[in-house]
Amino acid sequence: MKRRRQFPPNDAKRRIGPILRALDTAYPRARTALVYRTPFELLIATILSAQSTDATVNRVTPELFARFPDARALAASDPAEVERIIYPTGFYRQKTKTIIAVARALVDKFGGEVPRGIEDLVTLPGVGRKTANVVLANCWPRPASKHGIFVDTHVSRVSRRLELTKSDDPEEIEQDLCAVVPESKWAVFPHQLVLLGRGPCNARVPRHEECPLLEWCPTGRKALGRRVARRRRRPSAHFAPATISRARSK
Ligand code: SF4
Repeated sequence: MKRRRQFPPNDAKRRIGPILRALDTAYPRARTALVYRTPFELLIATILSAQSTDATVNRVTPELFARFPDARALAASDPAEVERIIYPTGFYRQKTKTIIAVARALVDKFGGEVPRGIEDLVTLPGVGRKTANVVLANCWPRPASKHGIFVDTHVSRVSRRLELTKSDDPEEIEQDLCAVVPESKWAVFPHQLVLLGRGPCNARVPRHEECPLLEWCPTGRKALGRRVARRRRRPSAHFAPATISRARSK
């Protein structure tokens, strides 16, 4: 991971306690929506979820894992059969190449098992820190492995709106979050932000009014403050121009 000297959010450490408590209340059982039984299945499902939805991945993985239950079986698979099974997830040709290459690397370098070290996981073809963190945090939450906080598009957007980071680089965002969120929360916290990002803090029109974090969110408070200020500036029925001039003429 890249090292940075500066830690941008000034009051993030003060706000993080109430933010975490509100997230625990709103999303007490946040976890990955991908269905899996083993670390191998979660690794493959996470790769398939790129540019797709968890629901679509969950529709294809029962057949995929019934046919290829472990790394050895997938490494020896016929790509045409894998392509047919995972077709609904999109980019099926590239994804087939990637998951077969991952399976072969697991067999060649790690005895067919998913390694518990993030440094080992990111050596697998097509596996970056996000995928590695998802697998480790769900299969071996700290202290069983040394995972960080995974950063996807929702975690990235919501963290910036909460002013827990000012960066849009996933590695820098992860560093900023790890600096304020206690280690015991590193597995669940990003899943909670994903749920928030799919709900009130969506990308298009955030619904600040119904957000459980509004009280501690500078972006939401500023946006609502602007709305209130606009409403105050706008003349209301009581102070419409006609009413005002009548009042002055008295
Ligand atoms: S208050 Fe608004 S911007 Fe802040 S986290 Fe909630 S929805 Fe997102």
